[in-house]
Amino acid sequence: MYELVMLTERSGYIECPAKMGVFLCDPSSAVLIDAGSDKDAGKKALKALDSKGWTLKAVINTHLHADHIGGNKLVANRTGAPIYGPSIAAAVAGHPILEPTVLYGGYPPKQLRNKFLMAEPSAVKPIEEADLAALGGLEVLQLPGHSMDMIGIRTPDNVVFLADCVFSEETTQKYHVNFQYDIAQALATLDYLETLEADWFVPAHAAPCKDIKPLAQANRAKMLEVADLLLQLCEDGKGFEDILAGVFTHYGLEMNIGQHALVGSTVRSYLSWLADTGRISLEIADNRLLFKAL
Ligand SMILES: [Zn+2]
Repeated sequence: MYELVMLTERSGYIECPAKMGVFLCDPSSAVLIDAGSDKDAGKKALKALDSKGWTLKAVINTHLHADHIGGNKLVANRTGAPIYGPSIAAAVAGHPILEPTVLYGGYPPKQLRNKFLMAEPSAVKPIEEADLAALGGLEVLQLPGHSMDMIGIRTPDNVVFLADCVFSEETTQKYHVNFQYDIAQALATLDYLETLEADWFVPAHAAPCKDIKPLAQANRAKMLEVADLLLQLCEDGKGFEDILAGVFTHYGLEMNIGQHALVGSTVRSYLSWLADTGRISLEIADNRLLFKAL
């Protein structure tokens, strides 16, 4: 774990639960794409670069989730390297309470105010301020859906870092309801992925591959399966908690407060998408909000 794996002479990644991309932007310095889940991950990433004699030139955060920005503070403190990311990720990095607040829909209980959902605060500049030419000619790809304004990175040697727009087949078959924020955008991003060519694709939570189409298709199929399940669960008009319980029962998932927040947020996003596309209605009955399949 945390070993540096090079895919080309200049591009590679640090193996860990949320892979960090590495791009050698000049002979002695590298850009990190994401900074790992916490200060230990950040420390190990710097050690991996150091073992090659590389200094850190900059960090680019792909999105706001704590497992991608958690190492920011340590790497910035140790190296002074600037950190760039989408502007919403910058806001959350500066105000980490926003992540559990968005998931919970109000001030989150202490069970959700933990390091898995709240990174240590760090200063992230908007990606538009990054001089991408000075970082070796990186290209930013817009990959929204899983997170509000998630980005990916294409390197000049044709490696594409995909952040969290696809999950591995194993993860998908185990958890079924992968986290998504905006279903319409997530599906559009999967369509976009199928148009991309690269020498290597590096998703943060799946093995690197040379063809991303099969994984994009598997992720889309599972998302459409979840949407169909929700329509079935809403047949007679159901409240949110009943729908969420139905999802956990159907897939044999284990409920806890964290999963209630993460899967719950995702299910709410699916319900909004189904309503926006005219497949369910939102009705108030006996002071309860009911979602009903049309
Ligand atoms: Zn994520």
